[in-house]
Amino acid sequence: MNNLSVIEVLQQTKALQNGHFVLSSGKHSREYVQCQKVLQYPNHGLAFARMLCTKFQGLKINVVIGPALGAVHFELFLAIVLYEANNNVRGLFAEKVRKDNETVFELRRGQELNPGDNVLIVEDVVTTGNSALKIYELVKSFKANPVAVASIIDRTPDVTKFPIPFYSLLQLTLEAYEPGNCPLCAQNLALVKPGSSV
Ligand SMILES: [Zn+2]
Repeated sequence: MNNLSVIEVLQQTKALQNGHFVLSSGKHSREYVQCQKVLQYPNHGLAFARMLCTKFQGLKINVVIGPALGAVHFELFLAIVLYEANNNVRGLFAEKVRKDNETVFELRRGQELNPGDNVLIVEDVVTTGNSALKIYELVKSFKANPVAVASIIDRTPDVTKFPIPFYSLLQLTLEAYEPGNCPLCAQNLALVKPGSSV
């Protein structure tokens, strides 16, 4: 698959849609992305994972970790692909918890990192990069080594501030508009709230 077919698969599975959407931020957008709509299909999930892994061949990785729930499927697909080359690979997910009025990530359910583990941080979509950065801090707190961040879609508006390399399959610049200043509202296009009807 090349970049064009990544987009085609995202569109076919409705993981990427065009229209007039209200985002969780309240802003309006022409596009909507929900990777779970493609990751529900193991053939596509594994194909994306295989393609992404070719971008960081040679990196030493023995743990893949992603933030729950969004990255759970993709984290496992990547762990499976890396395991095929090195059967010393584990896949973990970190869970969001509120602590002292702050959202942090924790390893629960008996999952753990060991000092010296070489860790790939995985997201389905990177937008602000905040979740990946919090996972980065979590990995460091175990004295493990975060080696790279990887995602299907890079939606960051500019170069991210990750202190480690960042790999993605597809860069997408999504325009978002304030509701009072939205060209789609001006065209009277029906507004869709994702989760209710898509
Ligand atoms: Zn609008």
